[in-house]
Amino acid sequence: MPNCPNCGNKEALPTRTFNVIVEPSKGERGMAERRVGMYTCSKCGTKFPTVISKQRYLIVAEEQLKAIQDELSSVKKGNEELTAKVQGMAEQQREMETSMDKAAKENDMKRLQEKLAELEEFVGYLRKEKGELEQKASRLR
Ligand SMILES: [Zn+2]
Repeated sequence: MPNCPNCGNKEALPTRTFNVIVEPSKGERGMAERRVGMYTCSKCGTKFPTVISKQRYLIVAEEQLKAIQDELSSVKKGNEELTAKVQGMAEQQREMETSMDKAAKENDMKRLQEKLAELEEFVGYLRKEKGELEQKASRLR
């Protein structure tokens, strides 16, 4: 909401709007289109303009625009290919993680089997000990 330059009153709605094309000033490129609103202060009646919005236009040769559009579409295509590659890599990573999990589980299983074999051996040893002790005991009776 612009303020009245005379009394500072805020005005919400312009009485009318129009577009102005502004030629570039020195050092600027392209044309600028400005949407201007004319306001009339409801307190003191001062009429004042305010720029509502600006749009800048660059003048580009048709061939140049075509070249830019072509480049943009090839960049887009390259980007799509990269995205597909990244997705493929993510998939491979998941597969690797799955097979690593499997390998880790197999390794755990192997260790457990080794432990079981050790335990079985120990149980065998204890049985043998027990047998010997029983024999000793029966001799003492
Ligand atoms: Zn005013």
